Amino acid sequence: MKQHIDAKLNKFPYIFIFFLEISGLGLSAFLGVSFYKSETKAITKEFKNDVNDKVAAIESEIRLNIEVLRSVKNIYDISENITPFQFHKITQNILLRHKDIQALEWVPKVLKHERQTYELQKSVNFEITERKKQGSIVRAEEREIYFPVYYLEPLTGNETILGFDFASSTKHLLALEKARDSGKLTAISNIKLAKYKKRKKVFLMILPVYKGESLTKKQRRKNVIGFVIGEFKIADIMDRSIKHTTAEGLNLSLVDITRNSVRDILYTHIVAENMVIPLKYSKKLTLIGGRKLIILATSTEYYVHARRSSLPYMIFLFGALFVSCLSVYSYFILRKTAIIENIVFQRTKELHEAKDKLEMLTLTDSLTGISNRRHFDMYLAQELQHAKRDHHVLSLIMIDIDYFKVFNDQYGHLEGDKCLKQIAVSIQNSFNHSGNLVTRYGGEEFAVILPNTHNVMQLVEECLQSIETLNILHVGSTISKHVTISAGINSIIPDADSTPQKLIAQADKSLYAAKEKGRNQVCEL
Ligand code: GH3
Ligand code: MG
Ligand code: MG
Repeated sequence: MKQHIDAKLNKFPYIFIFFLEISGLGLSAFLGVSFYKSETKAITKEFKNDVNDKVAAIESEIRLNIEVLRSVKNIYDISENITPFQFHKITQNILLRHKDIQALEWVPKVLKHERQTYELQKSVNFEITERKKQGSIVRAEEREIYFPVYYLEPLTGNETILGFDFASSTKHLLALEKARDSGKLTAISNIKLAKYKKRKKVFLMILPVYKGESLTKKQRRKNVIGFVIGEFKIADIMDRSIKHTTAEGLNLSLVDITRNSVRDILYTHIVAENMVIPLKYSKKLTLIGGRKLIILATSTEYYVHARRSSLPYMIFLFGALFVSCLSVYSYFILRKTAIIENIVFQRTKELHEAKDKLEMLTLTDSLTGISNRRHFDMYLAQELQHAKRDHHVLSLIMIDIDYFKVFNDQYGHLEGDKCLKQIAVSIQNSFNHSGNLVTRYGGEEFAVILPNTHNVMQLVEECLQSIETLNILHVGSTISKHVTISAGINSIIPDADSTPQKLIAQADKSLYAAKEKGRNQVCEL
C-alpha cells in the first residue's frame, strides 16, 4: 500500500509548482522593474526640470550683469567727456552691489597722434602698455590706433590692467572690432589677463560707444569713440545662480562651444563623482554676446537616491513572498489531494478484488473447489448461445459415481467427501482445456461442458480409465474393486429450439443408459 502511494506521488505535479513559482517570480520581477523604470523616468524628468531651472537662473544673472554694463554705456551715450572722478563715482555704487563684477573699464579709441595727449592728460605715470609673451608689461609699440584701458574700477587689485592696449592682442582686437562693426554686445570668455592668472575665468563683455549716427558698418567704424568693458567673474555668477535654485546634488559645467572644434570649459561645479551611470542632460543658453554656451549636467548618486523609493523592491519582495507561500500551499493541497485520490483508488481496487472473490465463491463448490451448479447453469446458457451463433458443436457430459451410497455406508461420509474431491481433481485434469468447464452438478454427480470439441467419446473413456486407476477401494461395488464412474454424452449442433434443459435431459438419458448397461462405462444416445 505504501509503495503504491509513493509510486502515485512520483507523478505528483511538481512541475506545476515549479512553473507556478518561476512565473510568479518572473511576474514580481517584471512589476518591480516596471516600477523602477517609471520611477527612473520621473526622476529623469525632474532632473531635466532642475537643470532647466538652473539654466534660467544663470541666464537671468548674466542678463542682470549685461544691464549693469549697459547702464554704464548709457552715460557715455549722453556725454563722451567723462572724467575719471565721474567714472569712479558712477561705477563705485554698481560695484558695491554687484560683487561678481571683476572690473568695469572705459577703453577709448586713441589714434597715433593722440597717444601723448591721452597719456599726459591721465596722470604722470600713465602710459599705454602691452604684454610681452613672457608676461612682462612694456610700453606699447607705435601703432595707428590704440584701445587702452583708460578708466578702470576698482583700481585696487587691477592696477596692472590700467593702460593695457587691447589692440596689442589679436584676440582682444578682433573682439573689439566685432563689437564696433556690429554695434552689439560682444563677449569673450576664458580671458586670463596677467592679473587674474591665478584666479577663476572671466567673461569680457564689450559694448561699443559711438559719436553721432552709426547705422551702417562704415558709420560705426568712423564714429566709434571707445568701448565700455565689463569683466565678470564666471564662477561667482554661476555659484550665485546655482545657490538660488533649490535642487542639490547636480554636477554642472558651463562650456563655451562657440568654436566648434574646441569645448572650452569655463566653470565646473562638481558635487560628487559618480559611481554609477549618471543621468545626463545638456541645455543651451540663449546667445550671449555672440557666445554659444551650454550647461552640461550630470546627476550624482545622492540626487538619484534621494528621489528613489523602496516601492519597486517591496513589490518584488512581497510578490516573491506571496508566490512562494502560494506554491507551498498548492504543494500541500495537491499532495493531500493526491494522497486522498490514492487511498480512494486503493480502496476501490480492494473492493473490486473482494467482489471478484465473492463472485468466485458464489460460482465455486466448497467441497471440491471446482465450479458449482450455478456456474454450470450460467456457462451452459452462454455456450449454447455461442454454439447457436457460430454453428459449432456443443457437448455436455453427465458423470455419476457408481454405488456411492454403498461407499458412504461402508466407509463413512468423511471418506465419501475425500473420494468426491479426488474424483473432482481427476475429472478436472481429464478435461483441462481452454473453453471446457468441469462442475459439480450435485451430490456425487459431475457435469462437463465442452464447446466445439470433436473427440469427446475418447476423452471420456480416458477419464473413466483415470478414475479407476485412482485405485480407491470400493468393496461394496459389484462391478469393480475400486471406485468407478458412469457417463452420458450429448453432443449437438444447436438449433433455435435447443435449450439447456433439453441438452441436460438428453445427457441424463445417456447416463441412465450407461448405468443400465452395467456402469463403469460411457454412453451416447
Ligand atoms: P448408482 O450406482 O445407481 O448411482 O447408485 P448410488 O448409490 O451411487 O446412487 P444413489 O442416488 O442411490 O446414492 C447417491 C448417494 O450419494 C447418496 C448420498 O449419500 C451420496 N452423497 C450425495 N452427496 C454426498 C456428499 O456430499 N458427500 C457424501 N459423502 N456423500 C454424498
Ligand atoms: Mg446419483
Ligand atoms: Mg451414483
